[in-house]
Amino acid sequence: MEKFEQIFSFINEKAEKYEKADGHSFLDGVLQSLEDVLDEKVQWAFQDASKEEVRKAIQIAILKGMRKTSQPNHQMTPDTLGLLVGYFVEQFFTEQLKTGQISLLDPAVGTGNLLLTVMNLLEGKVSATGIEVDDLLIRLAADTAELIEQPVVLYHQDALQKMLVDPVDAVVCDLPVGYYPNEEVAVDYELCAHEGMSYAHHLFIEQSLNHTKEGGYLFFLIPANLFESEQSKDLHKFLKKSAWIQAVIQLPENLFSAKAHEKSILILQKQAKTLRAPREVLLAKVPSMSNKEALSMFFEKVQMWKESK
Ligand code: SAM
Repeated sequence: MEKFEQIFSFINEKAEKYEKADGHSFLDGVLQSLEDVLDEKVQWAFQDASKEEVRKAIQIAILKGMRKTSQPNHQMTPDTLGLLVGYFVEQFFTEQLKTGQISLLDPAVGTGNLLLTVMNLLEGKVSATGIEVDDLLIRLAADTAELIEQPVVLYHQDALQKMLVDPVDAVVCDLPVGYYPNEEVAVDYELCAHEGMSYAHHLFIEQSLNHTKEGGYLFFLIPANLFESEQSKDLHKFLKKSAWIQAVIQLPENLFSAKAHEKSILILQKQAKTLRAPREVLLAKVPSMSNKEALSMFFEKVQMWKESK
């Protein structure tokens, strides 16, 4: 068995015991087993495991829990997407990462899987903040971050309300999609709908820009049809005056269970007086992950675009 499978078995066994004994969910059991490890109530025999091995094992255990008791907001960003986002963060911050650290914010951090995948990829070069409204998910994120020793400050709150977060170099976020129920809060946003309820994913984009430094970058996983909805005109107008679209990357369809769930990566730069817009927006499609040749052509295209920027 590979190391991450051994760690998964360890967590799985404890979570199943907890689930059976106390009538809790399997996901509660995963959380409990991570807390037992951190409180040294159980022996952790994986000190030599890498941060990625531990993250992957916890990811699989959480996925199992999410499948058992499905809740609409219990969604985790899979590795494939996290690694792609991390690759783009690396490309946009190549110079800063050579000499120092960057600050990241994920305002919808969920289980932390996306943020921690990026942090593990850029090991030692990122300090981060995460926001999440769901109590169970943010505790899973906190325990995972502690176990793999990644420096993340987490806030349990609605990210669309006031946040005490200093402007960051970059935002990474798998946007929650749908209507935002708190209309009293929504009215403070330029992207508040003129009629009816506002889109949470639009407000998240605006809020993320509010918390990004001038010239900083934002890496969003967006619904593939973001620019086709009836509220998208306002989004376009808003983006035009506050951000520069750097790239729109289509993701392979086979990563998603249905057309309605397809996502793309949108990369924005917060405008700054001292900087200029990119000459050309990178529009590209990630080929199927199994097609090695097409994949290396995709990365080549990104490099060529980067050099021409
Ligand atoms: N990247 C996350 C991960 O790897 O687990 C998954 C993000 S999931 C697509 C979107 C998350 O946004 C969910 O965890 C949901 O609970 C959270 N969310 C939705 N509305 C929110 C709000 N107003 N403030 C903070 N978090 C919110």
